[in-house]
Amino acid sequence: MLRELVEILACTVCHEPLTLAVSREAGVEVETGTLTCTACGEVYPITEGIPNLLPPDLRRAIEAESSGAAR
Ligand SMILES: [Zn+2]
Repeated sequence: MLRELVEILACTVCHEPLTLAVSREAGVEVETGTLTCTACGEVYPITEGIPNLLPPDLRRAIEAESSGAAR
């Protein structure tokens, strides 16, 4: 995702702004990192350039399902 995107993204829980922490970047593109909510502290992962902004309960449900399918 582009760095500037953090300015238009908001927490899906409380709709407050997010803080970007970059682990790996390529030019203006953030490849890996996290978006942290400034209000509730919820952490959204960025993997392969894609921010995962699903609400935390839905994200955990999907993760549980995909790890179950891998068995
Ligand atoms: Zn929040």
